[in-house]
Amino acid sequence: MLIRNVSLFYGKDLNYIVKTNVRISKKYVESIGGGLVPHSKEKVIDCEGLLMMPGFVNSHIHIGDSIGKDVGINSDVESKIHPVNGFKQRILKNSEISHLTNFIRNSCISMIRKGITTFIDFREGGLEGVNILKNASSGIPIRPIVLGRINYYQDSKLIKKNHSLPESKKIDLKSLVKNCNGLGISGPNEFSDSVLKYFSKQKIMRAIHSAETEESNRISKKTTQKTETQRALLAKPNLLIHMTYASKSDLLLAARNKAGVVVCPRANGALAEGIPDVNLMMKAGCNLTIGTDNVMINSPDMFREMDYLWKVSMGMNKTRISPKSILKMATANATNTLGNKIGTIQRNSFADCIFIEKHAIDLEPMHNPYAAVVHRASENTIRAVMFEGEIVHGKF
Ligand SMILES: [Zn+2]
Repeated sequence: MLIRNVSLFYGKDLNYIVKTNVRISKKYVESIGGGLVPHSKEKVIDCEGLLMMPGFVNSHIHIGDSIGKDVGINSDVESKIHPVNGFKQRILKNSEISHLTNFIRNSCISMIRKGITTFIDFREGGLEGVNILKNASSGIPIRPIVLGRINYYQDSKLIKKNHSLPESKKIDLKSLVKNCNGLGISGPNEFSDSVLKYFSKQKIMRAIHSAETEESNRISKKTTQKTETQRALLAKPNLLIHMTYASKSDLLLAARNKAGVVVCPRANGALAEGIPDVNLMMKAGCNLTIGTDNVMINSPDMFREMDYLWKVSMGMNKTRISPKSILKMATANATNTLGNKIGTIQRNSFADCIFIEKHAIDLEPMHNPYAAVVHRASENTIRAVMFEGEIVHGKF
């Protein structure tokens, strides 16, 4: 397929090309260039007036709690989503699998309509939880990256004793690792150093919540005399989730250890738990991406996430951030963790793309294409979404 006369955010740096052609072959971008001409019998689509950009990567979501939208809206973070005592756990346990599955499917469909083609999910409930998500998302044109976890948490007594992972749980972990894309560790406050180090040895992607609240940082210092982030890094994570209350030295440590940081600004705001300081994170050299976190407390919409993060950060710090930096957080920065085929449009990347209407009434005249996408575009300005070379939403 040859896409002609399209505007493009190209490559890892999202360079804006006013007009070019893109050849898609099977699932991939084969070539890009103004000089490309159609092969005989090749399907040609004229995309004059459209801006082609990478599909969004939602780098942190708990899609499993889609059934609990806005339940207990006024309660605090611990009573809502604590991995052991939160009432989210009760909702998941007491819901029928078919109901959980339906609402997970709906969230997948909702994300495609909003241009999200890949999501990284923190899946609770052990292997069973992983299988519910796999089953719910099967046949839907979206790429779930499933980070599972074992049903095991330690209290502060076991953490202080540096209790190791019980043998039976090592067996559970082994079969979990075989059946998902990575480990989604609830946080360092639920595990001893020994267990976190055991997680670090698993040959699979690892992500962990860290410094989401002032309270979680305080608990870590009280129990272990270390910050939550210092301990989270024992698991050698590819991704640290939140880091809203990480200090400058924690952020520098994260950057030195090549752990990416996923910020979830609207979820933090919704829980009355602050705003991540992306200026400080960028200065520390962290690779930043964005997630929408629990569907229970926030909608899986990267347009809204970018708009909120951009403005709230500038308002708080009285310093401008380039809209391109924000857009990269929602797309291209994810390639560093997920491999070069996801989050960018360049040769050999997956053909996961959004086609934005440049002449939509909300966007025209488009003087700054990055700003237009970051704070004016929405689901309504999408003409079509492509996943692995197929149009899966909208049409030309
Ligand atoms: Zn989370």
